[in-house]
This record gives sequence, C-alpha cells and structure tokens, in this order.
Amino acid sequence: QTLPANVQQRIATHPCYSESAHHHYARLHVAVAPACNIQCNYCNRKFDCANESRPGVVSELLTPAEAAHKVLVIAGKIPQLTVVGIAGPGDPLANPKHTFETFARIAEQAPDIKLCLSTNGLMLPEHIDTIKALNIDHVTLTINMVDPEIGAKIYPWIRWQRKRITGVEASRILHERQMQSLDLLREADILCKVNSVMIPGINDTHLPEVNRVIQAKGAFLHNIMPLISAPEHGTYFGLNGQRGPTPKELKALQDQCSGNMKMMRHCRQCRADAVGLLGEDRSQEFTKDRFLQMTPEYDP
Ligand code: SF4
Ligand code: SF4
Repeated sequence: QTLPANVQQRIATHPCYSESAHHHYARLHVAVAPACNIQCNYCNRKFDCANESRPGVVSELLTPAEAAHKVLVIAGKIPQLTVVGIAGPGDPLANPKHTFETFARIAEQAPDIKLCLSTNGLMLPEHIDTIKALNIDHVTLTINMVDPEIGAKIYPWIRWQRKRITGVEASRILHERQMQSLDLLREADILCKVNSVMIPGINDTHLPEVNRVIQAKGAFLHNIMPLISAPEHGTYFGLNGQRGPTPKELKALQDQCSGNMKMMRHCRQCRADAVGLLGEDRSQEFTKDRFLQMTPEYDP
C-alpha cells in the first residue's frame, strides 16, 4: 500500500514515518517521563519503555528545562534535526506535567521542529486538547491487542482512577481508551502510527485483526516490532522463557498485513535518548554532563 499524497507531504521530513526521509533527517528523543500507568509483561522498568525504544538501555532522566536546552544544543549541531519525540522511559502521558512543559518550551524556542509523542493511549483522551493546542502533529500509539482476553496475557495491571485494576477488566479499559484515542486523533487530523509488539504464541496470530481495526479507525502506518527477549532485558513476567519472533516470522506477518495498509519496516527500536539519523546513534556525544556544558548555537 502507498500513502495518499497529502500524508506523504506531511511526513516528508519525519525519519520514522517516511522511509525516504530516514536517510536525510534526524530525530531526537528526550527522556523526561519516568512513570508508567500500566504494566506490560515484556517491560522491565529499569530500562526504557519497550513500546518505542530498545529495552536494555537506561537513559538519563532530564527535567523539561534540561530537555529544551538539549534540543537547542543539538539543533545547532545537527541541522538535519526535524523531529523531537518523547517516548519514555515510562509513558509520556503518565507524566503529563513534564511532557507538556517540555513540548511547550521546545515549541516556543524552536518552532520549526516537529513534535512527536508515543503513548499506550490510556490517558490520551484526557489530553487531546493540549496535544492539539501544542500542535503535536504525530502520535504513536502502542496497541498489542483488540481482544481483552488476549490483553490479559500481556498486561497484568493498569492504574486507573487511582486504583490498580487487574485481569481482563484492565485490558478492557485499556482497549476502550485506545480505540477512543484512535477516534480522537483521526477527528483532530493528527497523524497516528501504531506500534505493535509481536509476541509469539500470545498475539502473533491476532495482530492481523489489530491491523484491520486500526486501519478502519484511520491510523496511517503500522509498525510491527519483534519482542526482544535478550537476557539483559530480563524475563517476560507472564511467562518465563518467552521467545521473540524470528526475522522470517516477523516478515511473514508484516507481509500478511501489508495488503491492508502501509507497514513500517525501517524501525530501529531506538534508545529513548536516541540522537541523529536512524541507525546512526550519537547519544554518547550528548550525555547530560556533556550537553549541559554546551551553549546552544541554534538560530531558528
Ligand atoms: Fe513499560 Fe512502556 Fe509498557 Fe509502561 S507502556 S509498562 S514503560 S513497556
Ligand atoms: Fe523511529 Fe522506531 Fe526509532 Fe521510534 S524506535 S525513533 S519509530 S525508528
């Protein structure tokens, strides 16, 4: 499937959304969001949110002021920087104050940089007006199921209205909020990509159904990512020894879904503090002790 011309134009400089842009444009993730409001069985909280980033890499937490400073420093040094995203280490919308203050500072000081947000969607409906007001043009939702029975094998609990909810009820609430998030993003004309983590034996045969539902609800790109079951990631809480898919299994599933909508196949499962072109990680040049010493040379 190819994308409509107006969507292609909107993503032309976004390295994650446009395959041709990823050779030319750079992105930066700032890690300002430590807390999460759900538990994914595949997540190890010591590391970054596995929804949008490679598990096993701990990023340095930044305050909104430090994050904005980092953006200005890097925008001065890497002129191809077009996108700044918040993707963790927890869920950005479980930390709304930090997340939105960071976006507001960047929007004010570097107005030409596009803002991008990744979330599990549980709290998105509450914040849709702020997302619109800040001109956040791209949102990634991680949706691993559209059937709460399957969800119960992936999510042991969610935190909802100050209570911890478990079992199928937790996944039913998460599912309803994710569907509502897709509707709200479509109505607001905000481009929505969906990430799904492929977990063999749990949701692998179910993801074509997820693909069909998200396409019908207006998501424009589907990124099916493999579960990473490297030893440093720890165990899959629900099932010790859970394996990730083989490259062949992943490709077969992507091929199966590709008749329906555009699939993302160049995702690098970046660090939550990734800097640079995809596949060219310059995060070590801009560790906190380094970038805080640098003076921004960015000129909007
Ligand atoms: Fe971990 Fe991200 Fe899932 Fe939260 S949403 S539990 S941070 S993988
Ligand atoms: Fe883009 Fe994937 Fe990296 Fe996110 S994790 S910045 S979608 S390549």
